[in-house]
Amino acid sequence: MCAAALSAARAASLARTIPVVEPFGHIADRNRSCRRSRLALPFLSVFAFEVLATDGAARVGRIRTSHGTLETPGFFAVATRAALKGLDPEVARRAGVQALICNAFHLAVQPGPEPVARVGGLHRFMGWPGVLATDSGGFQVFSFRHGQVADELKGRRRLPGPTGPDLEAVRVDEDGVEFRVSASGRRHRLTPEGDVELQAALGADVLFCLDECTAYHVPFRVTRDAAERNLRWARRCLERFRALGLEGDRALYGIVHGGVYPELRRRSAVAVAEMGFGGFGIGDCLGETKADWYRVVDLVCPLLPQDRPRHLLGVGEPDDLVEGAFRGIDSFDCAMPTRLARHGQALHWQLPRFRLDIGASSRLREDVPIEDGCPCSACCRFGRSYLHHLFRAREALAVTLLVEHNLTFTTRLLARVREAIRAGRLRELRGELLAAT
Ligand SMILES: [Zn+2]
Repeated sequence: MCAAALSAARAASLARTIPVVEPFGHIADRNRSCRRSRLALPFLSVFAFEVLATDGAARVGRIRTSHGTLETPGFFAVATRAALKGLDPEVARRAGVQALICNAFHLAVQPGPEPVARVGGLHRFMGWPGVLATDSGGFQVFSFRHGQVADELKGRRRLPGPTGPDLEAVRVDEDGVEFRVSASGRRHRLTPEGDVELQAALGADVLFCLDECTAYHVPFRVTRDAAERNLRWARRCLERFRALGLEGDRALYGIVHGGVYPELRRRSAVAVAEMGFGGFGIGDCLGETKADWYRVVDLVCPLLPQDRPRHLLGVGEPDDLVEGAFRGIDSFDCAMPTRLARHGQALHWQLPRFRLDIGASSRLREDVPIEDGCPCSACCRFGRSYLHHLFRAREALAVTLLVEHNLTFTTRLLARVREAIRAGRLRELRGELLAAT
């Protein structure tokens, strides 16, 4: 076992001995509130999913964890390195964000699992009291290996900006994946078992299986072989998850692979469903166009158990959220709201591609909010001209305010989706949204 795996195992052992403590306030207040919540709400220690209403394939539900509830269809805001870009997680909570997703691979590289486990897990480490997931990191490792493939996988163009540590010599074998981080020269090895231990040490409510993602352009046999290996890895992940005694308190999500090939998707979905995971992710290459992923989701969702949540990995444009919910997806994660903010783009209901370019010089003459009726700080307190100035002056406040707005937009859109499903009019909302843009 290499040093990284040993370190993850030690941290997992450490995490099992440290109760997860609610963040906020100073430690005494924190401990009091913890005792109080355990006494008053003992049933909250169990992960559960329930469907409350349906409209065709779409459903409104609730994912309950020991750290609170995510209403579904819901959104995991991306906090890759245990931070939302430029935003206090408490502000995100007020913006309606109920769940975050961090990246186990990035956190394994920096700061490592031990400092996080030592303080009781990510919730306390990063001051986030709500639902928290960790992605295994497999996607990141393989995306670095394939260069531009990270974006090709999700059908989007790569945007400039920091993306993470440079990796060298990424090698995959039956046992796992090994890579070296260029800056430090340190070698890391991720195995299915070690990755579950790592995520357990980080304290996530929702964990994802380690998987190998394939690119759109690779031959069929590469996607097929990776999908088969991912099934073997999924079994190993689940065995370790159960051996750690986490089943019931947390959920491990199995991931459906198979690229754009229906026969591979079908086999992967049936096999992963039979393993009995607490929830399911739909991952791997989703094709080049939105129509490609619609076909994948339409094929996969009916093959998954009705009583378990379904998560669409890495997809979250406004129209994607509506289309995904329409097809039976319960949750999404996507860096888009925060990434757009860094590039001066604010989400807006009625503009092409839902984007308002704050950096455009015409904004200087617009003394109106980004969007009327939006309750976020950017819209309630500032006009577009000031936001344009902040963005052009490269003030950090510009990103902070735009991230808050974009997350508020996303959570409000999903609230509208849930309301429409309850009222049996999601198809109507879908039409309104498409007509608006
Ligand atoms: Zn706003």
